[in-house]
Amino acid sequence: MSNTTQFDAIVIGSGITGGWAAKELTEKGLKTLVLERGRNVEHQKDYVNEFTPPWQAPNGGLPERDLDARDYPVQSKIERGAFGWANRQYWINDRENPYEQVKPFRWHRTDVLGGRSLTWGRQSYRWCEDDFLANARDGHGNDWPIRYADLAPWYAYVEKFIGVSGQPEGRKDFPDGEFLPPFAMTPVERALKQAIEAKWKDRCLTVGRVANLTQAHNGRAQCQSRAICNRGCSFGAYFSSLSSTLPAAQATGRLTVRTDSVVEAIDTDPATGKASAVRVIDSRTGERLTFKAKVIFVCASTFGTLQILLQSRSAAHPNGIGNHSDVLGRYLVDHAGAGGFAEIPGFMDTNYKGRRPTGIYMPRFRNLGGQDPDADFTRGYGFQGGAMRDDWTNTAAMSDDFGAGMKRNIARPGKWIAFLGAFCEQLPQAHNRVTLNDKVRGGFGLPQLSIDVAYGENERRMNLDAGKQAEAMLKAAGAQRVQLIPLRTIPGVSIHEMGGARMGRDPAESVLNGRNQVHGVPNLFVTDGSAMASSGTVNPSLTYMALTARAVDFAVAELKAGRL
Ligand SMILES: Cc1cc2nc3c(=O)[nH]c(=O)nc-3n(C[C@H](O)[C@H](O)[C@H](O)COP(=O)(O)OP(=O)(O)OC[C@H]3O[C@@H](n4cnc5c(N)ncnc54)[C@H](O)[C@@H]3O)c2cc1C
Ligand code: SF4
Repeated sequence: MSNTTQFDAIVIGSGITGGWAAKELTEKGLKTLVLERGRNVEHQKDYVNEFTPPWQAPNGGLPERDLDARDYPVQSKIERGAFGWANRQYWINDRENPYEQVKPFRWHRTDVLGGRSLTWGRQSYRWCEDDFLANARDGHGNDWPIRYADLAPWYAYVEKFIGVSGQPEGRKDFPDGEFLPPFAMTPVERALKQAIEAKWKDRCLTVGRVANLTQAHNGRAQCQSRAICNRGCSFGAYFSSLSSTLPAAQATGRLTVRTDSVVEAIDTDPATGKASAVRVIDSRTGERLTFKAKVIFVCASTFGTLQILLQSRSAAHPNGIGNHSDVLGRYLVDHAGAGGFAEIPGFMDTNYKGRRPTGIYMPRFRNLGGQDPDADFTRGYGFQGGAMRDDWTNTAAMSDDFGAGMKRNIARPGKWIAFLGAFCEQLPQAHNRVTLNDKVRGGFGLPQLSIDVAYGENERRMNLDAGKQAEAMLKAAGAQRVQLIPLRTIPGVSIHEMGGARMGRDPAESVLNGRNQVHGVPNLFVTDGSAMASSGTVNPSLTYMALTARAVDFAVAELKAGRL
């Protein structure tokens, strides 16, 4: 490929949003180049530990402390076993890719082809109308330029392609989608649901809506319920760029993928003001290349995208492209949280089959439709969790038996453990921001990204409330002892970093318009989490996908009409 190659479209990043942009652009007839900073990963062939049994794991499956401390000090701290011997190869090497934490911030990155679509938890929820109205109602953050109705058809479009299993609940504050059959709840989850919904009429507990296939779908196989998804899945039974969107784009014959290509900046044409080219560093050779296109989609994940936009400095954009009003990099948000674990007595004659790759979900119930009189915070939170039987490891650790008695004990499932963990909406604030530190050069000689984000008093109060509510609900289901835990007190831990290039109507208050178009640069689109003007309470990636498909539809129509 020569460095003067002209494409119709360039997509930066191949993760959840980049894969969607590539699929939509190529299917609509555009010759498209995907630029990915990470190495190539081939679906099926490169899922090297997918079928490795734990007893063949290196170091007996235990953390390799020296290696992790040296190369993965941030990535290895990710919660819920998302990083480990089976998938360490997907995570970014922190030593080679440093960033500055003005305040503690965990930036978790799977920078390979497919991005975090390989390692995500696949929880997939629609926003509701209230989420889009929240900023305008309480004045925190700027008003969203779109409403639920703008996105509803695109949610449906995305869900039908990726395959989301779930239970319709018929609630306006928790919109249903195009669902495959739901996974089953465990007996204790059903009991929890019954107890909670009987006591609190406004609360709803349902099975987690998840992009894992409960039946064969779009040429991909049904999920085998093994819950080892973050190693990669040869069945294609969960949604990833590698199993779904990139193959669809490839099938058009119009896709070119260039991995090991670190995007440094986007150039604009001084005569037209339009984005004209993307500058790239080949991470293997150090060679610098430039690629041109008529339309550019930036999908490099929230911080990856902000870094590229801030680095795109020129006479017309001295502080970075789209940064005419000093909004770029500001108003970052994530999900804070607290939760509770409990032992649920009884149910010892009940069990479940397989390892379901999802949990349970309870949509927001606090401050919906107005301020709750007993709530000392703005906005609210949703709960995720589950109830399952403890496994043999704890039983063995707690047992004072030995020999044949111990063997008998550990062959039996343990007690029932229930867990509820909140995802609390963080308020958008201008001082929560990223900037470039030009004095410190990181990988490839680029300025280091400096992250200055902290939770505030509102998030602290919400966490406290979430803990109390979790305790009350677990107790309503018969829990005798509840252990409350601070879950997401360090920003980044939820891996839902959003904002920084927020959408809005007013160019003085926002970076993007209601079509994800950079104000003033009509052929440049940003559709990942950086576009979000607030965080809502549900997991965000389904919304990013819907925004991406919608923005491509608009961009291609504009291009064909000669307006881009
Ligand atoms: C363990 C875990 C669990 C999660 N669970 C959920 C969940 O249940 N539900 C949910 O909604 N979300 C979840 N998420 C978050 C979800 O993964 C992200 O929201 C989503 O992947 C973001 O999509 P993206 O396309 O913006 O970025 P990514 O998927 O991260 O992809 C970005 C891509 O851009 C590339 N890139 C970055 N910078 C450059 C550059 N300069 N040049 C070229 N390429 C570049 C990266 O290498 C990467 O491949 C989870 C994440 C993790 C890690
Ligand atoms: S649980 Fe399902 S989606 Fe996950 S790895 Fe197994 S088969 Fe694939």
